[in-house]
Amino acid sequence: MLQTSHIMNTYQRYSLNLVKGKGAYVWDDKGEKYLDFTSGIAVCNLGHVPEGVKKAVQEQLEQLWHCSNLFLIQSQEKLAMKLCENSCFDEVFFCNSGAEANEAAIKLARKYAFDHNKLPHIVSFKQSFHGRTMATLSATGQEKIQKGFHPLVSGFSYLNYNDYVNLNKLIDMKPCAVILELVQGEGGVIPAKQEWIEKLTSICKKEEILIIVDEVQTGMGRTGKLFAYEYYNFEPDMVTLAKGLGSGFPIGAMLAKKEVAQHFTPGTHGSTFGGNPLAATAGLETVKELVGTNVLHSAQEMSFILKSKLEQLKENFTFIKDVRGLGLMIGIEIDGDPSGIVQLALEEKLLILTAGNNTIRLLPPLTITENEIERFFEVFQHVLNQYKDTDSGIIRR
Ligand SMILES: *Cc1c(COP(=O)(O)O)cnc(C)c1O
Repeated sequence: MLQTSHIMNTYQRYSLNLVKGKGAYVWDDKGEKYLDFTSGIAVCNLGHVPEGVKKAVQEQLEQLWHCSNLFLIQSQEKLAMKLCENSCFDEVFFCNSGAEANEAAIKLARKYAFDHNKLPHIVSFKQSFHGRTMATLSATGQEKIQKGFHPLVSGFSYLNYNDYVNLNKLIDMKPCAVILELVQGEGGVIPAKQEWIEKLTSICKKEEILIIVDEVQTGMGRTGKLFAYEYYNFEPDMVTLAKGLGSGFPIGAMLAKKEVAQHFTPGTHGSTFGGNPLAATAGLETVKELVGTNVLHSAQEMSFILKSKLEQLKENFTFIKDVRGLGLMIGIEIDGDPSGIVQLALEEKLLILTAGNNTIRLLPPLTITENEIERFFEVFQHVLNQYKDTDSGIIRR
């Protein structure tokens, strides 16, 4: 590690210098190999350096890197078509990140409200995470993320997630839109209850409230389907994507139904880089592989295996309070601080994440194999044993 870093101190970084990746593994500068159950936080869903995407980007690198959205971009058109063919949406706006995708959704909701003489108000949910820009941190229902950055962008309010009674407030609030994650990621890997979504969607339909689903983390196969909303039996008006969309190449997208999308007209929104030839090529090949191979099916099977084995662990380790999640977005709630476990795992060459303040988060690549899951459990069980001993004061290490 460098003695003095000139990088702003916005991340608490591990002193690990990763230089190479392939599939579910990454290597550090000393040649040490790590099993990666983080996928760069739900980005490398096809594993590290997937061959197909690599080849497509390499070919595009030889042709054209950038030309601006003033011109037609073939790969962008194709990616938009592929996303719409495999969803309930008609049009796509491309940008570079999850926050930007949510910014676009927030702007489109406001424009829709403006054109329909509705209130520009948007309701989001507590413990949500929608990004770090001013509008998206204002939409985020977590004070710790907003602290120090007031005044916030106005027009947001927050209801309790998975709370039925609260939903009736929407009727009086008359917002133009709600924004939510179907599995809250950063907030602690908390899936929305099926019946709660039913109630939410029925109120929104009756009151003509747009539903924006933030699928930045849940999208692109992370939950075992291309979009998490497919589990919930409704069609959102807008969905936002980023993380897994480009397999590591930065790209974000906001998808909308025609009736909503048409409220964006030339000059209302834009992005210099959004969906540029390189990014769109990475996205196109990623989506092709997600829908054209058995990777989603396999992810569902691996999810089943992983979750059943975690349930068994829960029997043996009383500090594990809950195992939950959808597809390969899995949370293990523990009685205590999860960062100790993450640190122990790192020392054992296993990369995992935390979420919320009491949850371990597993985000293995969708291409994870049974053998790799077995390897994970060998290490993880050992880590939990160490943690247990440390916890009860025996401290073997
Ligand atoms: C990561 C994330 C974002 C922000 O994405 P960035 O690309 O970091 O701006 C927004 N929403 C959700 C649900 C996320 O998980």
